[in-house]
Amino acid sequence: MHYTGTVYRNPYEPPSSLLEITQGCSHNRCKFCNMYSAVRFQPSPIEWIREDLAEIASIYPDTQRLQLLSADPFVLSFEKLDEICDLIHEYLPKIKIMTMAARVDNIADKSVEELKILKNKGIVELNLGAESGDDWTLNRVNKGYFGNDIVEQCQKLDEAGIEYWLTFLNGVAGKSHTREHAINSAKIFSQCNPAVVGTGGLVLFEGTGLLAQYRKGKFEPLDEKGLMEELKLFIENLDFDGRFITHHTFAMDLNNSDFKSNKQQMLEALQYGIDNLDMAKLSQIRNNKRHL
Ligand code: SF4
Repeated sequence: MHYTGTVYRNPYEPPSSLLEITQGCSHNRCKFCNMYSAVRFQPSPIEWIREDLAEIASIYPDTQRLQLLSADPFVLSFEKLDEICDLIHEYLPKIKIMTMAARVDNIADKSVEELKILKNKGIVELNLGAESGDDWTLNRVNKGYFGNDIVEQCQKLDEAGIEYWLTFLNGVAGKSHTREHAINSAKIFSQCNPAVVGTGGLVLFEGTGLLAQYRKGKFEPLDEKGLMEELKLFIENLDFDGRFITHHTFAMDLNNSDFKSNKQQMLEALQYGIDNLDMAKLSQIRNNKRHL
């Protein structure tokens, strides 16, 4: 198999083969991310994709589900994705589901009709790393789009019937904009129709712009208690009909399949954590993380 640089398997996905169709990230400029900094973005050669499909087909000929790599393969044009979908069906005739990570702006150049075609070929779910819905925050971390873009592109996915995840990056606005980040992200996400809302907590990784700003005294990160309070404020203001997942270091299980009916319970769990958890220990666990 051809894998270039970081390989990220969504830990919440059912087991499936990983097929690289692009290398690196087409944006590669978010100030909190170092995952693909060593890889130049490029589409994978079609011969590599063929070779990898032949290898998957030789081991798992009945494959029904695939995760496509790398950071944002949905950046490829409709025509290119369409061609790759056909190739996948040629090698894996039982394929039903193809999922991948995507940037919100990957959707912008595709019409609803084109999205419907891709959905019918098996692209039924995208994992959108939105990170925030607050314009100040999105601009500060150089995300490359704004809150209204998230709503606009998600509406197209809704029309096409493609499901999507939205992620919230807890702490990315620092102390100065924590309230705006929490409340405005919840407002924007609540205008969308995600199947899943996922959250993770900020870590200042080596080589990132935010770490450089922190070292110059220009970014003040939240402590563990502040992260929990921000997540609580986000959840208080969030309204959607789907599943909630989180991969924090908070040592509490907030994952659930039905956000609406578990919201109050999650808020109570977070308040318990704010009042009782060992923040120094949580901070140590967070600081030992090396990448997202
Ligand atoms: S967060 Fe996502 S879009 Fe931003 S640089 Fe990292 S991989 Fe690329």
